[in-house]
Amino acid sequence: MQTIIQRIDPEGNLKEQLKEAAAIIRRGGLVAFPTETVYGLGGDALNPNASAAIYAAKGRPSDNPLIVHIADTDALERIASGVPESAYRLAERFWPGPLTILLNKSGLIPKETTGGLATVGIRMPSHPVARTLIEVSGTYIAAPSANRSGRPSTTSAHHVIEDLNGRVDMILDGGHVPIGLESTILDLTTEVPLILRPGYIMIEELRKTIGPVEYDRAVTLHRKDDTIVAKAPGMKYRHYAPQGSLVIYEGEADKVVRAINEQARRCVESGEKVGILAADETADSYPYGTVRQIGPRSREEAIAAHLFDCLREFDDLGVTRIFSESFEDNPLGQAIMNRLLKAAGYQVVEIR
Ligand code: AMP
Ligand code: MG
Repeated sequence: MQTIIQRIDPEGNLKEQLKEAAAIIRRGGLVAFPTETVYGLGGDALNPNASAAIYAAKGRPSDNPLIVHIADTDALERIASGVPESAYRLAERFWPGPLTILLNKSGLIPKETTGGLATVGIRMPSHPVARTLIEVSGTYIAAPSANRSGRPSTTSAHHVIEDLNGRVDMILDGGHVPIGLESTILDLTTEVPLILRPGYIMIEELRKTIGPVEYDRAVTLHRKDDTIVAKAPGMKYRHYAPQGSLVIYEGEADKVVRAINEQARRCVESGEKVGILAADETADSYPYGTVRQIGPRSREEAIAAHLFDCLREFDDLGVTRIFSESFEDNPLGQAIMNRLLKAAGYQVVEIR
């Protein structure tokens, strides 16, 4: 398949620029587009064939549901049933924005879109390209992250091209996304709402809006525990993984630096290609391998925005061993570490 790659001029008329993309969505085709979180791979959420095509293009297991993207709150009543009052409060406070809510689905949403589940994840994105694409196509857009299944999510169009060129109808290039981590997923179908995936919208903000909220147990794990089943099917698969083996080092900063350097030196000496993922503050302390600065510890948004970029850069460089510092001591840290731990397959070295 020939993939059309279209660069978006953010100053220009978006409706005009997105006409062809919208026509592709309407006829059941696939369009990758930027959102404020990561790039999404979109298809008509009401068309089971489009959902099937999304799974095929990504190589995604078909029991892993897609998030349905909407452009106005009226859509809630149409695609969900028994919408609780809390959903409207959340919508008013956080939409458009990086929050996905899980509700019981209505008959309008085919089971192919929800991986066979009776619930549906819904989000109203704030990125102008995403919003306008949904509006102009006149439907709801099912969109998982626009990466090949298992690989790090895509934060720039060139990542999407790397993974999906020739497998989708169109890729919209809207530059680097602002947030760089996927949405927070909140399950509203349980007695106490549960966070199934941590993201940019944090638990305290959610509690302020709707009262008690808890984490799904699988979210707070720092070690792999096969006895706990993740409620978001996507969270159980190997995910975000770079090609090289990734190990996270936890502990006091200077001890972590020393331990990583020792391992890095050994690996370099035995001919491995080493990558090191470090905060700006410590990046100069690593003489071996290729160091990627992820951002300053004081600006967790920068770390979040660069995480997937850094992992993909290591792949581009053919790195076989990656050593990473740990980033759990900041408010967004839970979301960052959730992705990093999965990318590492939970390989963590604790330095005492
Ligand atoms: P992605 O769109 O690639 O960021 O992945 C979407 C995530 O949302 C996956 O982890 C899914 O398992 C999760 N998700 C979407 N819809 C549902 C649902 N109805 N129930 C549970 N998890 C969901
Ligand atoms: Mg994904």
